[in-house]
Amino acid sequence: PSPRLVVGNWKMNGLCEQSSHLARAVAEGAQALPDDVRLVLCPPFTQLASVHGIINAAGPDTPLWLGAQDCHTTSSGPHTGDISADMLSDLGVQYVILGHSERRQANGETDALIRRKVEAAEAAGLVPIVCIGETMEERLEGRTTTVLATQVEGSLTDDFNGVLAYEPVWAIGSGSVPPIDELERILSLLHGLLQSRLKMDDIRVPILYGGSVTPAQAPTIFSIGSLGGVLVGSASLEAKSFLRIAESA
Ligand code: 13P
Repeated sequence: PSPRLVVGNWKMNGLCEQSSHLARAVAEGAQALPDDVRLVLCPPFTQLASVHGIINAAGPDTPLWLGAQDCHTTSSGPHTGDISADMLSDLGVQYVILGHSERRQANGETDALIRRKVEAAEAAGLVPIVCIGETMEERLEGRTTTVLATQVEGSLTDDFNGVLAYEPVWAIGSGSVPPIDELERILSLLHGLLQSRLKMDDIRVPILYGGSVTPAQAPTIFSIGSLGGVLVGSASLEAKSFLRIAESA
């Protein structure tokens, strides 16, 4: 079976000293983790090179991988302030989070744009982690299924081979996690949506859960056998919490 992924999305957090300290502490603690867990650290762009150095120094057996939080749709050109997937790959980055709800909301990212970013990431040899999820309003209106179906349809490529992250927008940073039976139902819905979107019976796309994942919640979340892993925000900014989550994987 493929390893369970524990992805730390640091978001816009981390100055030099703090980031190196955090990455070193995670690298040290990660040595004790079982083989079937893979940790992906996604620091801000400015810390990618130094975290890469720390991961390299941890040696070839470390379960630590490096991810970024966004990329541009093209590989180079007149796009002031943007970072391309090729640049990330060149730096030693392996994963890239795309279509996070914070970017969908604050940066107006659409499914069509995200799909073009997925294409760019795949072309550069990165593994895209595509985020989808409904808002509280959509959930209360009973539109979760339609919203997720539209996002799966629109933001994935036809031969998508990355990772899907289900992050209900209302669960992010809220301290609330969906009830476990709801999460199970949505996971099987997503498996079905992936099968029809990718026209495959045997889907290899891991599905992660994200939104208020804490060490306390992690064992319950990981009790869902079909879950591919978790996408962790604030708890990934503390090495101890992040490692405790990984121990439950
Ligand atoms: P929190 O874990 O802080 O709720 O954030 C989740 C998230 O958005 C990860 O991408």
